[in-house]
Amino acid sequence: MQKANSDKIKLVVYISMAVIALILIIFLILREPDPQYSERSFQTLGTYVTVRVAGEKVSTNTLLDIIENELNRINDKFSANNSSSVIYELNKNREIKADDETLFLINSALNISKITGSAFDLTVRPLVRLWGFDDEFSEKRLPEQWEIENILNIIDYRFIEVDESASRIRILKEGLEIDLGGIAKGYAVDRAINRVKEIDAGATGFVDAGGDIGIIGPKFGKLPWSIGIRNPRAESAYEINDIVHLYSGSIATSGDYERFFFEGDVRYHHILDPKTGYPAKNAISVTVIGDNLLMADALATAIFVLGYDNPGFDYFTNLGVQAMIISPDLDIKETKGFNYFRGKWEKMKFINKKDLIVLIILGGIISSFFIFSYVFSDKNVTGANVFIDGVLYMQIGSEGRYEIFDNENEYLQTVIFNNGRIKVIESECKNKVCEHTGWISNSNQKIICLPFKIVVEPIGGKDDSGVDLYTW
Ligand code: ADP
Ligand code: MG
Repeated sequence: MQKANSDKIKLVVYISMAVIALILIIFLILREPDPQYSERSFQTLGTYVTVRVAGEKVSTNTLLDIIENELNRINDKFSANNSSSVIYELNKNREIKADDETLFLINSALNISKITGSAFDLTVRPLVRLWGFDDEFSEKRLPEQWEIENILNIIDYRFIEVDESASRIRILKEGLEIDLGGIAKGYAVDRAINRVKEIDAGATGFVDAGGDIGIIGPKFGKLPWSIGIRNPRAESAYEINDIVHLYSGSIATSGDYERFFFEGDVRYHHILDPKTGYPAKNAISVTVIGDNLLMADALATAIFVLGYDNPGFDYFTNLGVQAMIISPDLDIKETKGFNYFRGKWEKMKFINKKDLIVLIILGGIISSFFIFSYVFSDKNVTGANVFIDGVLYMQIGSEGRYEIFDNENEYLQTVIFNNGRIKVIESECKNKVCEHTGWISNSNQKIICLPFKIVVEPIGGKDDSGVDLYTW
């Protein structure tokens, strides 16, 4: 009776475990399919932008539209070349009433100008124009020394006044103009990614604005995006020097190969040193990795200007970024944490959190299955042969209590067959030196009771390498 009950329990447990395991496996198989990425390329912010994105809730096309619109909006609003931009207006009218976004961006640029000691300087525009780097259509030329000196006299971010309470921005120095070219791209990408996240937090992908890249989310929700850092002296933009792997955050590279001209065999490029008035000479490429692209973009320009020998290079890690700089001799220097981003496998999340939880539960069920079946299969002896001094005394075929008597009908021992297991009542061993043997369910095991030489041999049961058990 008890045996039948335990069989029922066993069956119920087995079936429920199998059903749960099956549900989990189906869940794993049918789980959100890997996102389908769409790509779009277009020109804005003075560069070629490539966006790759996959939405979770919102269609990929909508997300691409949002990003493209946002980048265009910021380009139109902050490009010094666009006659309807606030920067154009500010440069022309010398004073504007600014909205919160303009105040934020100008304040950010001022702040970075300050902390980089003017290596990055938002008032660099007159210099940029002098060299012809303000517009792709401008004539690029090597200016006369006196022209450069005239302009160096006025370039200084401290001539920009922000009146926060009145929301007014003023340029205090005549001839001075603002250029947000070194920061607007980073800001625009950050904003576009924020807009996407606002409406679809689970969206993944990246925005690549001419090598300045902001990550929307990890590839397929679990893999890093691998980003090649261009060899600054290679002919092709596709020749890679280095690879980093990002799950999130952003990366910006400033190189002397982006916009330049040659005069003789000297290369003159678009990253200008506000102290000398010439293109910065002591670097050819700087890569900065950070949480947001506004910071990474502007700091890449600043670190480029400060150059390879800048003793404050490591200081920038205090601003939450990691940087790598390549000198004109192709020597490479990097901050301590930069190498972290090269490791792909060490920080690879092969599996996302949801899958991991399901796998742990599945593992738990499978191991309980084994434990359970081990425990239960330990109780499946189907009977026993009882010998006295080598002679078969009785065969036990059904569960119950069996008393053993000798030839003179004197009681010797009781054998109990219950719930698929066999034991003797050891306390009844005549010489009272019984040792507890417990239940046995293994046909390899025997119970031998001395001094009567009673041997109980179970039939059936799990046939593993049991040890003979004795009751003395
Ligand atoms: P790119 O825009 O090619 O990625 P950067 O991010 O380094 O390059 O920005 C360079 C742009 O920033 C220049 O085209 C110019 O408009 C502006 N710029 C150049 N030198 C400086 C500087 N020292 N500080 C701030 N802005 C600069
Ligand atoms: Mg930059």
